[in-house]
Amino acid sequence: MTDLERAVRDVVIANRILANEGVVDAYGHVSVRHPGDPTRFLLSRSLAPALVERGDVVEFDLEGKAVGGDGRPPYLERFIHGAIYEARPEVQAVVHAHAEAVLPYTISTTPLRPVVHMASFIGARIPVWDIRDSFGDTNLLVVNMAQGRDLARGLGGERVVLMRGHGFSAAGRSLPEAIRIAVYLPLNARVLSEALRLGEVKPLSRGEIEAHASMRPDEPSMYRAWEYWAARAGCRDLLTGRT
Ligand code: MN
Repeated sequence: MTDLERAVRDVVIANRILANEGVVDAYGHVSVRHPGDPTRFLLSRSLAPALVERGDVVEFDLEGKAVGGDGRPPYLERFIHGAIYEARPEVQAVVHAHAEAVLPYTISTTPLRPVVHMASFIGARIPVWDIRDSFGDTNLLVVNMAQGRDLARGLGGERVVLMRGHGFSAAGRSLPEAIRIAVYLPLNARVLSEALRLGEVKPLSRGEIEAHASMRPDEPSMYRAWEYWAARAGCRDLLTGRT
């Protein structure tokens, strides 16, 4: 299996995981940077993530143009991916989703912050980007490079950016890391929302968050979660022959 074939296969697995873990529904998407060309990325054609197969994965340039003339309809919000890869050379995978548990924090003045150790790697600071600041009244979707680049500026050097009234985008140094962020972000949001109902909340300290930040994206424990979620999503057969 070539690096490209492996990357395409991993995009399929990532889509199935996000659907199975309830991070995405009919909408939302995940991409990985092309393993042989950093100016391209791999993303499904416009399709619900649960249904993505290898043949649905399309190669795009960073401006969101399909390479090789693939004429099938793409995701309207593919610019999120290209703009983040353009701004952040170390980023290897991007997830965009509308997970319900996260949505209150996109419209509230209460900040979303890591409160449980399994979510410490979502980052100490989670900025909220508001499309209205630069683009006025829109349908809230990121549908061109100007909007994508503005979102990438909102993300800055962080791992997650919330999008007002819309959802979130997450950037990982590997695909398993991006998936891990995307799965634990809504879990952390649910725990925080529940704790806020109980009263005062003690978030993780910056030192506690940094203690986890040193974790490498290719550590075995990172792959352990990937393998587990993939098996749960019915992708065990796709995992074999990975190494
Ligand atoms: Mn969206």
